[in-house]
Amino acid sequence: MLPILPFDPSHILIAGTWRATDRVLPLVNPSTGDRLCTIARGSETNIDAAVAAAQAARDGAWGQMPALERGRCLTRLGQLVLDDVDLFTTLETLDVGKPVTQARNDALALARYCEFYGGAADKVHGQTLPYLDGYTVYTLREPHGVTGHIVPWNYPMQIIGRSVGAALAMGNACVLKPAEDACLTALLFAHLAQEAGLPDGAINVVPGLGAEAGAALAGHAGVHHLSFTGSVDTGRTIQTLAARNVVPVTLELGGKSPQIVFADADLEAALPFLVNAGLQNAGQTCSAASRILIQRTIYDDLARRMGDAYRAKRIGPADSDPDIGPLVSLKQKSRLETLLGAAGDLPLIAETPRPADLPAGGAYVQPRLYGPTAPDHPLAQDELFGPVQVLIPFDTEDEAIQIANGTSYGLVAGVWTNDGGRQMRLAKALKTGQVFINNYGAGGGVELPFGGIGKSGHGREKGVEALYGFSTLKTVAAKHG
Ligand code: NAD
Repeated sequence: MLPILPFDPSHILIAGTWRATDRVLPLVNPSTGDRLCTIARGSETNIDAAVAAAQAARDGAWGQMPALERGRCLTRLGQLVLDDVDLFTTLETLDVGKPVTQARNDALALARYCEFYGGAADKVHGQTLPYLDGYTVYTLREPHGVTGHIVPWNYPMQIIGRSVGAALAMGNACVLKPAEDACLTALLFAHLAQEAGLPDGAINVVPGLGAEAGAALAGHAGVHHLSFTGSVDTGRTIQTLAARNVVPVTLELGGKSPQIVFADADLEAALPFLVNAGLQNAGQTCSAASRILIQRTIYDDLARRMGDAYRAKRIGPADSDPDIGPLVSLKQKSRLETLLGAAGDLPLIAETPRPADLPAGGAYVQPRLYGPTAPDHPLAQDELFGPVQVLIPFDTEDEAIQIANGTSYGLVAGVWTNDGGRQMRLAKALKTGQVFINNYGAGGGVELPFGGIGKSGHGREKGVEALYGFSTLKTVAAKHG
């Protein structure tokens, strides 16, 4: 059951006012299959109103607010998120099926994004440039205007923090379309933003279906920048819609990220990172390490240790804080099961046992570890978005690099070796947006720029770098003789 909320979860927020919509959608608890509540099914008309409200905020109180004050609003918002961390945790546990510890970490990350971007709001600026004699030239860093944020269900709080937080810090006004499977924390965040003193219209939230509210936002002529995290197919659609209005797009589309383990690595230190980076959030992580490349001389040993770790994991309802909760929905469960049909006769090293007392209506799947796997096997190439890892043996450094770079994705890579030269060579050779050496961050901290190449997308979020993406640069050349 939902706790008592300080807002109506079936409403949308536009221009500081919570409103009902004509139609609603059911929201289901994936741990049990029980209906939690109804949420708004936002329409094109709602998106029109939200974009107009954001533009009005840009033209009014929000646009006129000095950077220092914007930063203070965000910092206050971060404190309010911290004060309500238990409620954020409960909502994400119910809504997404996220184990309590993970949901709490995400809520703390949301607060941290607000603090980070609150502090940065008045520290990103232009430059003066040397030019011809008799000129003074400088650059101004300005907001895009209205930014659209289309957010998936797997890490709603973290993704809202990194995209909406950075956009607001630069003075943009936001229209947020959370996922239809998970929007409660987005609504709570918007409610607290009002309390933190953000002017009406600085944040507008319209939940709804991707093909309706999402597509209306992506193709809206009044939106000046779009940020999207989700599937490659939807990313392609959004970029195509945005292209009609020649609007810049940041796309974060997932991956098939490798961790590469050399024979000289500290296996004891590596083991939890290797396993957890595949199983965290039931594998529904864009930067999940779904491929583990292992030097052949240590393959059998490491495969055995990883198998033992899989067998020791506990599956359960999210509110019991298990290692592995349900997937976000029965739809995702059946999608994963279809993809796993491609496993064929691939050797199954281990499977996490399924407890007998799991709620019948929950979207549970058993984590699976496969190997040895050929690098071109479909399970080693396609993003599965579930708790499944494949082990791939290799012999030489060159072969490891070739296999690691051998998918259409390029988001994150991990390298485990104590050879300093090899660490540096791989950091350069791996075609990804992030490389972790002797650790693995599954997306990394708030401070670390994040994003991909290839089908993993383009643009960078997180860190100070995101602030450049959420702003535009104007050059002023003054001739004064
Ligand atoms: P999706 O990409 O379809 O949905 C993500 C967001 O985009 C949601 O808010 C959705 O409403 C919106 N959306 C969907 N269609 C849209 C459209 N035509 N125009 C505008 N917005 C639209 O993802 P999904 O269907 O929920 O999941 C399918 C697969 O996507 C997953 O199994 C996984 O492989 C991938 N995925 C990746 C990530 C990631 O972090 N990279 C996150 C979620 C899903």
